[in-house]
Amino acid sequence: MAIVPAHDRDFEFATKYKLDIKIVIDTKMGIIDLQEAFTDEGILVDSDQFTDMPNVTAKKAIIEHFEKNNLGYEKVNFKLRDWGVSRQRYWGAPIPFVHCSECGIVPEKIENLPIALPEDVQITGEGNPLENHPTWKNCSCPKCGKSARRETDTLDTFVQSSWYFLRYATNPSKWDEVGIDKEDSNYWMDVDQYIGGIEHAILHLLYARFFTKALNQLGYTNSIEPFKNLLTQGMVLKDGAKMSKSKGNVVDPDEIVSKYGADTARLFILFAAPPTKELEWNDSAVEGAYKFIRRFYESSTKCEGANASLIERLDHASLNDNEKEARKKVYEALQKANEVMNKTFAFNTLIASCMEALNALNKQDNPTVWLEGYYIMTNILEPIIPHTCWELSDSLFARANFEKQLAVKEEVFVQDSISLALTINGKKRGEIEVSPSASKEEILEMAKSSEIAKKWIEGKELIKEIVVPNKLVNLVVKG
Ligand SMILES: [Zn+2]
Repeated sequence: MAIVPAHDRDFEFATKYKLDIKIVIDTKMGIIDLQEAFTDEGILVDSDQFTDMPNVTAKKAIIEHFEKNNLGYEKVNFKLRDWGVSRQRYWGAPIPFVHCSECGIVPEKIENLPIALPEDVQITGEGNPLENHPTWKNCSCPKCGKSARRETDTLDTFVQSSWYFLRYATNPSKWDEVGIDKEDSNYWMDVDQYIGGIEHAILHLLYARFFTKALNQLGYTNSIEPFKNLLTQGMVLKDGAKMSKSKGNVVDPDEIVSKYGADTARLFILFAAPPTKELEWNDSAVEGAYKFIRRFYESSTKCEGANASLIERLDHASLNDNEKEARKKVYEALQKANEVMNKTFAFNTLIASCMEALNALNKQDNPTVWLEGYYIMTNILEPIIPHTCWELSDSLFARANFEKQLAVKEEVFVQDSISLALTINGKKRGEIEVSPSASKEEILEMAKSSEIAKKWIEGKELIKEIVVPNKLVNLVVKG
């Protein structure tokens, strides 16, 4: 009679057929109380020289024991299920095999590839259209030359989607000669950023990795892992439900495009939610997106009187507060753009930054500050509202703001003054504004002579003066 260890998954079988069960990992409970196989980690018991070892370490020691005594060796087994690639469909690459009554299944000759689908096929919804085509399947056997029949199943689309990125990387001028050009594919691969729906996460992306590894081993590409980063996009919802034809809640972006233009459709979608989150379709938000684009377009007249050469000569220190604030918001939007494009893809935050920048620009009327704002915003919003940005960039700068990477100007982030809390005997009584470069003595002088302080320290003895940089000034008085 066999003995099943109590940690084994055969536990159920052994229980049912009343086979002996032996505890070899200390489960802290007797065999009577054991309801199911013990699969956690534990200490070996009743295991000869392996007794008292943690089971994880023991596994290694047991393998070593087997190998040392020539009783067995370590091996990892992989198993992949058989995988049907053929479908009875018209849309798919024909499987290039021929059925011959003499030779059996014969591969088509290389020079006859690729086998093209017939274009005069009848799609009736009944049966396999290639099988039903009157002549397409008739051919001659590549081996014996007798008349034979083509395979009428086609490859499922996942077969093609498993290597299309390598095909795209191949220069189209070579497409007729090669499937994948190794030099081209090595130049372009790997894919830096893959964007797809969650439905691709387990099938397509897994198949694509298998194909890439196989093509690597066959020498077609140096790529081993095809995709470096994956962004899984969220779904679009309407009235709380996934848009679908059967629910009748599908919104056609074409309607928005024809009423407001493609830029509005793009801005609305990207502003509504970060791309990884679900997006709730909202008609009034479409209107809001359109209004922003109009305002952005129409405000460009505020640049009149300025020209691009003046932008570089802007003297930040000589500007008034609103002009400084506008520049700061514009460069914050540029910083946001760098972060969004390189890392987060949260385009909604970039759009929000540009809206803030446009608001800040509107609170001043320096045409050069306006023009600088457009120099940057038409560049960073271009991937989102390309038509508007192209037109404005063309008319204002002859596209010069796309010639090189835009640089952030740190000068706009330097603060003119910082506010410090003013506390008397540890109690906050107000705030004072000081220059960021002010010395400790200057700050104390300013604090003591401030109207707030006078009220609390007059006629009293000042016994302690404390400055906590960038935070507060504390004056301690007695009497
Ligand atoms: Zn044959």
